[in-house]
Amino acid sequence: MDDIAPKLIENVNKDFADNLAADKNVTALSEKLAAGQARYEDAYKYAESVGNARAKAFESQISSAVLPERKMHYNIASRLMTDTLITDHEMIANYAAGVQKAYNEEAGINLKALKADINKDRIDGFVERLSYEDVFDNVSWILQEPVVTHARSVVDDTIKKNAEFQGKAGINATVIRNADSKCCKWCSDLAGDYVYPSVPREVFQRHDHCRCTVDYKGRRLSTYAVSSNNIWGMRDSHTFRDLGEQDRIEERASKASEIETRFHTQLLSPLITNLRNELIGRSVGAKFDNYDIMDLETGEMYHLAEGSKLQNKEVFAGKGSHNPYRDAWKYADKYGGNVEDWQHVKANGTLATRDGDFEAEVHWSQCEGIGKKEFFIKKWLE
Ligand SMILES: [Zn+2]
Repeated sequence: MDDIAPKLIENVNKDFADNLAADKNVTALSEKLAAGQARYEDAYKYAESVGNARAKAFESQISSAVLPERKMHYNIASRLMTDTLITDHEMIANYAAGVQKAYNEEAGINLKALKADINKDRIDGFVERLSYEDVFDNVSWILQEPVVTHARSVVDDTIKKNAEFQGKAGINATVIRNADSKCCKWCSDLAGDYVYPSVPREVFQRHDHCRCTVDYKGRRLSTYAVSSNNIWGMRDSHTFRDLGEQDRIEERASKASEIETRFHTQLLSPLITNLRNELIGRSVGAKFDNYDIMDLETGEMYHLAEGSKLQNKEVFAGKGSHNPYRDAWKYADKYGGNVEDWQHVKANGTLATRDGDFEAEVHWSQCEGIGKKEFFIKKWLE
């Protein structure tokens, strides 16, 4: 069998370059960056252009017809996605770091603007999902919107990395999540200003078709009100007046991270994890659902305790995550909806039992417009 990968990659990259060259926004955005005037919203526009140019190139060059056995084999997927997505990453990460550099200069922050790391897990997720399906055309959608989402995520990652770095270095680091008016409830609930270290990680996450943006504002603490015992529990003498000295910054960063961990676990975690918790209604007929939750070991059915909450919710496979949800087709078959819209979700819940209320990790499947299905207990937590 001929190795078609090198030629395929070459064609995709050539199309990609042509698409970008034809995009007038890219020129304008590059000029804005060179003039030191680009903002993070420009970085998202740049990411959108790069992602669209890539998705179009994939669409015009790749189909089952050009692949051996109509399938995107692992060894092709791996080289294709690595070559292309790393290029996209580099372009966007450099642009976004350039934006951060301009922000730092504007705020008089004498720190290096950091570039986002390549997210290998995301690339692996693409490869795995593409090569899992027997017929490429069934998963060709993965090379469309998810590729654009990947591009936008590079900007999110840049802001995350710089906010953490600056926050640890004693800068008042504020992350601002703006919701796109046409986006979803999850996004509008998440919109707002967050000051490091109390920035939930969801602020840097996005789902497909999400055009929400994140912005950053760093402010030096020397002119900022720092009481004798500030939120870090540190004395004034420990706060920084001269941020120019790298070693002192690093010393501060390591101290801060110790305190941050304590701060997080003791004070902030309950606040953060409560952001999207779901309240279980107290009475029959309440507008909240209560779900049948099966203990797979005994087959016994449980319910969430009334008035309790589903906490620490996390989508760990399917839409909005970068892990493929391999059983999604079963749920789509049984309940409807698109295979790609189903999610595998976990959370901690309080279950009512004959012996009182007990905490358990529960899992379920869900799809927008269809609801939550087939809850089960993954494990009892106490
Ligand atoms: Zn959104």
